[in-house]
Amino acid sequence: MTVVELFDSSPTIFIITATILGLMVGSFLNVVIYRYPIMLFREWGNMAKEILTEQGYSVTGAPKDSKLLDAHFNIVTPRSRCPKCNHLIRSWENIPVVSYLIQGARCSQCKTYISIRYPFVEILTGATFGWLAYQFGFSWETLSFFIFSSLLISLIFIDIDQKILPDPINYILLWLGLLSAYLGLTLPLAESLLGALAGYLSLWSFYWLFKLATKKEGMGYGDFKLLAAIGAFVGINKLLLVVILSAGVGAIVGITLMLLKKTDRSSQIPFGPYLAVAGWITLFWGDTIIDFYLRSSGL
Ligand SMILES: [Zn+2]
Repeated sequence: MTVVELFDSSPTIFIITATILGLMVGSFLNVVIYRYPIMLFREWGNMAKEILTEQGYSVTGAPKDSKLLDAHFNIVTPRSRCPKCNHLIRSWENIPVVSYLIQGARCSQCKTYISIRYPFVEILTGATFGWLAYQFGFSWETLSFFIFSSLLISLIFIDIDQKILPDPINYILLWLGLLSAYLGLTLPLAESLLGALAGYLSLWSFYWLFKLATKKEGMGYGDFKLLAAIGAFVGINKLLLVVILSAGVGAIVGITLMLLKKTDRSSQIPFGPYLAVAGWITLFWGDTIIDFYLRSSGL
């Protein structure tokens, strides 16, 4: 029996395998979330330096973070170390969730607490993969949704940490959405294309109206690109639901943070995470939500 036949004949084995795969992907996403922005900042710094030097400005001084200088710092090298004591993380200390629990949430060397964020991202990804495997079975559609969810999870945490939504991740998401539609996995290609277009233009227009009215920038260009990418997955018909849900989730989280005094009205809250969560909910529960709304409003 081949692996394909095994997954085809036993949904349970596929769900368990998908969950374990998700835990491992989550562990990799933790690395991406931490390292990819550092790589981008280094690239942007070098570019800025080149342009300024060409223009005749003298640029001196080194970046504050030594990682920004090291060209060998990327997603795969060097191997992970404890940020406090520099202890090299051995492979048995790198098992998703398990190592965290065994070590009691501490570095095995210096006993510094390890953030709960790491196992959280692993469990979130694992649970998402397991649920997708359960819903959609062993199929190309499921693979597309695995990648969709992984990219959204990395965008959510990069935006929370660094207030950026890197273009390359947004673009992979956009192309994946269009390709999935083209291959007949998700929705008609025309709906996907129009969803992407309307996603970009709607936030772009909102951005300029807001800027003309208040002289402030309410959101960044990354947000338009993210909504374009989500639009390619959910299609033009459900785009409005994404916007309504993201505003709703944003309001709830914003008010909660204000009540907890973690933030004030003027502090900058990234919009990307709300868009990402709303896009994910719309793709998988959009029909249910719309049905529920129509039935309860008696239409
Ligand atoms: Zn340590």
